[in-house]
Amino acid sequence: MNVYDKIYINGQFVKPVGTEELELINPVNKQPAGKVVLGNVEDTRKAIEAAKAAFKTYSKTSVEERLEMLSRLHESLSQRFDRLTEATVSEYGAPVTVAKMLTQLAINAFLHMKETAQSYPFIRAAGTAKVRMEPVGVVGVITPWNANATHLANKIAPSLAAGCTVVVKPSEFSAAQTELFMEAVHAANIPAGVINIVNGKGEVVGEELTRHPDVTGITFTGSTAIGKRIAAGAAANLKRVTLELGGKSPTVILDDADLTKAVPLAVRAGFINSGQACLAGTRVLVPETRLEEVKRLMAATVEALKVGDLWNEASVIGPMVNQKQFERVQHYITQAINDGAEVVVGGAGSPQGLEDGYYVKPTVFSNVTNDMTIAQEEVFGPVLSIITYKTEEEAIEIANDTPYGLQAFVFSGSTERGNPVAEQIMAGRISVNGLHDEPKAPFGGFKSSGIGRDHGTYGIEEYLEPKAILGHSSVM
Ligand code: NAD
Repeated sequence: MNVYDKIYINGQFVKPVGTEELELINPVNKQPAGKVVLGNVEDTRKAIEAAKAAFKTYSKTSVEERLEMLSRLHESLSQRFDRLTEATVSEYGAPVTVAKMLTQLAINAFLHMKETAQSYPFIRAAGTAKVRMEPVGVVGVITPWNANATHLANKIAPSLAAGCTVVVKPSEFSAAQTELFMEAVHAANIPAGVINIVNGKGEVVGEELTRHPDVTGITFTGSTAIGKRIAAGAAANLKRVTLELGGKSPTVILDDADLTKAVPLAVRAGFINSGQACLAGTRVLVPETRLEEVKRLMAATVEALKVGDLWNEASVIGPMVNQKQFERVQHYITQAINDGAEVVVGGAGSPQGLEDGYYVKPTVFSNVTNDMTIAQEEVFGPVLSIITYKTEEEAIEIANDTPYGLQAFVFSGSTERGNPVAEQIMAGRISVNGLHDEPKAPFGGFKSSGIGRDHGTYGIEEYLEPKAILGHSSVM
C-alpha cells in the first residue's frame, strides 16, 4: 500500500498539517491502491507565504537564469520518464502508449517554453514608452486528473519563464504522479519557494488559493462548473484568471472525405485518452447521404479497438479513472438510449471480461440530434454521437451550436475544401485532415471552454503584466 504523505513547501518535503486521508483505488480492479494525506488551509497558507517570499528574488532573476531552470526541469523530468509513465498507467489507468505520450508532453513543455522565452520580447517599445512585461506575482495552479503531469508542466513552465512563483494544487487522484513531479522539481534545484505543491481537496486547498489576497493569478484546468466558481471567487480581489475548461468538440466529415480514412481518425479524435479528454471530438457530423457507410465503418473500427491490458502497446482504451467517472459515463449512455439514440456499437455496462475495473464499452450512437443531452453535455468517456447534416452551412451551424468552443476537427478530401469550414468554426483549435498538434500554438477555448490560452507566447502572456514607463531615457 503506497502512502503519499508529503507535500512540497519552500524547497522541502514536509508532512501536511492536515490529517484527512483519501483512499486511492486502482481503476483496473477497484482494489485499494494507496492513500494520500490531504493538505489543509494552514498548509496552503504556508505554501503561499513561501511563494510570496520567493517572488521577491525570483522575479528579479534574469531571463537566462530562468531558461537554465527550465532546462534543469526538462532534464530532471526526462530522467523520470519510465517511473512517471508507470505511475500514469497504474494510478490513472492509461494504456501504456497514451501514458508515454502524456509523459513526453510534460517533459517537452519545459523545452518548448524555454524556446518561447528565449526570443520573447520582455522589454519593448510602444510609441515613446518603454514597456516591461513583468510577472503577475504568486500564481495558484489547479489541475485535473486526466493528464496530471502534462497539465502541471503546461502551467508551471510559463509561470516560471515569466518570473512568477507558484503554489500548485494537483488533482487529489494523481498522488503517485505528483510525488514524482515533486521529486523532479527538487532534483532540478529550483530555488526554495519558487514551486510549492500541496495535495488536497478542491474545496479546501483550491478555494484557499482562489480567495487568498497574496495569490495574484490563478491558472486552472478542469470542469466548466468549477472554473466558473473559481472565476467568481477570484473576482473578489481581481486575480488574473486563466481557465482551460470542458468541451463538446465537433468532428465535421465533409461529403468529399475518404471515409476509410476519416472514420478511423474521427474515432481516434473522440476516444483520445479513453475519451477522458477535454478536446475529444465527441460529436461526429456526417452528410445524411453517407450515414449508413459511416455507421458501418464506425462499428468496424470501434470493434477492432483493444480495450484493457494496459501494458500492451496495442491497447487504446483504459478504464475510467474512478467510480464517480464510471457512473457518470454509464448515466449518459443510459440517458441517450432513453432519449431515443440508436446504439451503433457498445452500450451500457462493462466490456466482457473487464467487469472488475471501471471499464465502459466504447460506444457510438446514431439517431442523435444536436439538442439531445448526449450532444450538449460533456461525457468525458469513450462515447461518440453521429449527427447528420444536409448542407455544409448546416454542418457549420450544428458545429457551433454548443456552449463550448475548445477544439474541432474537419475531415475533407482536400485541405482547400476543409480550410474555409475550419475558419467558420468557433473553437480555440481546429485540426484539418489529421490529428495535429503544435506546442507553440495557443490552446484554450471560446465560450464555456474557458478564458485565456496555454502554450507558446500566448501561454506566457497569461502570467505577465505590461508596465509602461513614459519619459524613460532609453525606450529599449
Ligand atoms: P474538476 O473541475 O472536478 O477538478 C479540477 C481541479 O479543481 C481538481 O484539482 C479539483 O480538486 C479542483 N477543485 C474542485 N473544486 C474546487 C473548488 N471549489 N475550488 C478550487 N478548485 C477546485 O475536474 P476533473 O474532474 O478533475 O477533470 C475533468 C474536467 O477537466 C473535464 O470537464 C475536462 O473537460 C476538463 N479538462 C479541461 C482541459 C482543458 O485544457 N481545457 C484539459 C483537461 C481536462
